[in-house]
Amino acid sequence: RYPNLPSRTWAEVDLGAVRHNVRALKRRAPTSRLMAVVKADAYGHGAVPVARAALGAGADSLAVVTAEEGAELRGAGIEAPILVFTDLLPDGLALAERARLTVTAHSPESARRISARPGLEAHLKVNTGMNRWGVAPEGVGEARKMLGDRLAGVYTHFASADSDAGATRRQLDTFGAVLAAHDFGGALVHAANSAATLWHPSSHHGCVRPGVALYGLHPKGDGGDPAEEGLRPALALKSYVADVRVVPPGEGVSYGLTWRAERPTHAATVPVGYAEGYRRALSNEAFALVGGKRRPILGRVTMDACVFGADGGVRVGDEVVLVGEQGDEALRAEEVARRAGTINYEVTTGLNPRRVERRD
Ligand code: PLP
Repeated sequence: RYPNLPSRTWAEVDLGAVRHNVRALKRRAPTSRLMAVVKADAYGHGAVPVARAALGAGADSLAVVTAEEGAELRGAGIEAPILVFTDLLPDGLALAERARLTVTAHSPESARRISARPGLEAHLKVNTGMNRWGVAPEGVGEARKMLGDRLAGVYTHFASADSDAGATRRQLDTFGAVLAAHDFGGALVHAANSAATLWHPSSHHGCVRPGVALYGLHPKGDGGDPAEEGLRPALALKSYVADVRVVPPGEGVSYGLTWRAERPTHAATVPVGYAEGYRRALSNEAFALVGGKRRPILGRVTMDACVFGADGGVRVGDEVVLVGEQGDEALRAEEVARRAGTINYEVTTGLNPRRVERRD
């Protein structure tokens, strides 16, 4: 019970779990460096504390998506190398230069923009089959030449390392052919996301680049037990019972009255909704843990609140676990994702920091 009721719903981030996961991933790729992917506020876990924890546990560098994300880390006093994944336009490149970030060249044109700023180092990203970002193999020679001695790394990204070994092998072969066809000097070569770090050792090269696994989330997204990969989930989403009432038989609960009581049913109101990032697709699908038991959601997730079944002595102020563990029960982000028709990445990244306070 919470004697001082919290205002709403919060996320507990276990930085010990992040450190454990970094060490576990380093054991899977013992001869490679490790770049910790902390984009999107460390997948909703908090970029600055997670970056510090990852570096403390042996990560060599960090990766983000925007120059602003990188500048935030520098502003917090983090001195490790920080790679920006996206193709920055001149304003972004200027910020990257001021914050001493490493940028990515995605085309000969992007390499030209980068080479116009003498203070910038770059990695060259090669498209080997994901077809989203990166220079095509035919453009690599021109982009490489443009970067000259500013080139510090070469990398690619897999489309389906979690699900399709054949496609991953074809991407690796294409990448290998690009590496063999050009002189990249001593540039750092990297390709492996979490799934490839765990399951495709031939992709490890000089550095692995895991994101989701750092957080103890399973790279398959909506299935798989992180514990089986030696990973420990770092985030728990918690709230409390704000009200308890008895719903008479025949009455419904929440918008649209999509759930109806067949017998007198205790119902607990919990201050979490889709404004917190608790997805509306969980309507009539979710469970919460209260008193060490699974409790089904009753009806729809609303913007600011949900109602869960609360028979058997649930009281105002009781702890509610929406993602995480309570007693012997666990609700993993993978299960929540499956029930919401999404992936664990979106469950944690989608939490709204304006509503969900983070506690390390
Ligand atoms: N590398 C790049 C270029 C990415 O965009 C991402 C994330 O999508 C990662 C690495 C990390 O991927 P994951 O979170 O699946 O480990």
